[in-house]
Amino acid sequence: MNNKERMSIPPQAMPEQKPEIRAHNMQEVALGYSAEMAKLEATRCLNCPTRPCVQGCPVAIRIPEFLAKTAEGDFAGALAIIKETSLLPAVCGRVCPQEKQCQLFCTVGKIHKDVDKAVAIGRLERFVADWGRENLQKAVPTLPPKTGKRVAVIGSGPASITCAADCARAGHEVTMFEAFHKCGGVLVYGIPEFRLPKAIVQQEIDGLQELGVKIKRNYCVGLTRNVSDLMTKDGFDAVFVGTGAGLPKFMDIEGENLNGVFSANEYLTRANLMKAYCEGEVDTPFWHGKKVAVLGGGNVAMDASRMALRLGAEKVYLIYRRSEVEMPARREEIHHAKEEGVEFLLLQNAKRILGDSTGKVVAIECLKYELGEPDASGRRSPVAIPGSEFTLDVDTVIVAVGNASNPLIPATTDGLEVNRRGNIVVNPETNMTSIPGVFAGGDIVLGAATVILAMGEGRRAAAGINAWLAAKQDK
Ligand code: FAD
Ligand code: SF4
Repeated sequence: MNNKERMSIPPQAMPEQKPEIRAHNMQEVALGYSAEMAKLEATRCLNCPTRPCVQGCPVAIRIPEFLAKTAEGDFAGALAIIKETSLLPAVCGRVCPQEKQCQLFCTVGKIHKDVDKAVAIGRLERFVADWGRENLQKAVPTLPPKTGKRVAVIGSGPASITCAADCARAGHEVTMFEAFHKCGGVLVYGIPEFRLPKAIVQQEIDGLQELGVKIKRNYCVGLTRNVSDLMTKDGFDAVFVGTGAGLPKFMDIEGENLNGVFSANEYLTRANLMKAYCEGEVDTPFWHGKKVAVLGGGNVAMDASRMALRLGAEKVYLIYRRSEVEMPARREEIHHAKEEGVEFLLLQNAKRILGDSTGKVVAIECLKYELGEPDASGRRSPVAIPGSEFTLDVDTVIVAVGNASNPLIPATTDGLEVNRRGNIVVNPETNMTSIPGVFAGGDIVLGAATVILAMGEGRRAAAGINAWLAAKQDK
């Protein structure tokens, strides 16, 4: 097939649950390609000699090669190529912001002058990963001889999963410590089931255990045991800190302490991890807001607003002080939230939250904004319009204006250098911190970022740990 013929193939739309149905259930919104759709979509790839899509991928997956295998129907071959560089393709295929990464650079999208018409690399990654899970026999991992070295991995998000797997594959004895009762980090407590089924994450955790990784859940490092104890008292030779950015930021406005105001983290953790949506089956208390205001414009805000709908809200407002162009959320999530009925109030922001005499939220007062000059992030900064106040009746306010690094490990580890934002400072080549033998990666280093970047950090840190331990062995 020549390039003209490839260009004439229409983009394959992703089958999805209908908005009016899915807004009231927890099942996955996107249903995935069929094998025929996947082959056709992959055939749209022009196999560009300059490979711009690969440059847009944070872990440099050999995209044209995996697409060529997919187009041929060799899905096992495609998966093998992806797995050379990505440990979590079923996760990344679902949650990566491809429209800002590989697909943004895709020649097909550029020719059509529409990124939505780029080859659907993410959807194909998801298809291939799901096909592998359903059709391939799980290979029993072959492990190298034991090195006798012990590695502690703190946290169990994508950075830690990747680091633990790579260290175990190098023959080290790895123990993972997770503060919650379930492993997976944001993949289980933040991103909802309707975007990322928890069974997929659990399979990755099972895979770690098959590699021999020991897992200690309900174990918060920094309380009874700190990083130094792990090394001096418990005999670990190296430690990886992947504790993420789970500290919610607030607006610092009047009324934020009222009943009915939540951080998106708490709201989503109760709903996802504590399964509050399984009413009658679990004891998790939950606040059933009927009129909900969500403050923010990122993925967390989209997840919180869509979750509120699924938990019975009759009206959900998403209030964001810039315009849609500046929204950091994935385009697909914005589109899905709108389709499901979330009302976007753009260029508006909360000024204060109003309560009744019992301390419960009854309304939110907002201000209108306009866009001024670009700020340090390059985005035009929002400027409040004096006298534009208006009030919305709501009974729930969910604050999703960002997260900061978890402070516990820095606060309990002497000599651990952090920057002014509280992120751990690392050597960019090895991910080693200011303490020899202690490594870090993911959101605790980058600040709230993405799954794929966290995975990349975990991989680099594991390489750093393996080199560090090898050097120690040689001495
Ligand atoms: P985390 O995933 O945060 O995991 C850290 C883990 O460490 C947690 O399990 C925590 O309980 C544990 N921990 C913390 N302190 C301790 C301690 N002292 N002892 C033991 N354990 C500890 N990214 C995308 O790419 N696409 C998306 O669509 C997307 N959506 C998101 C939606 C939400 C609601 C949120 C909150 C984030 C989203 N992100 C998304 C961001 C992405 O999930 C994170 O960048 C990524 O999970 C960071 O991985 P991590 O391994 O560094 O940390
Ligand atoms: Fe294929 Fe697009 Fe990559 Fe070119 S840029 S190789 S068309 S996926």
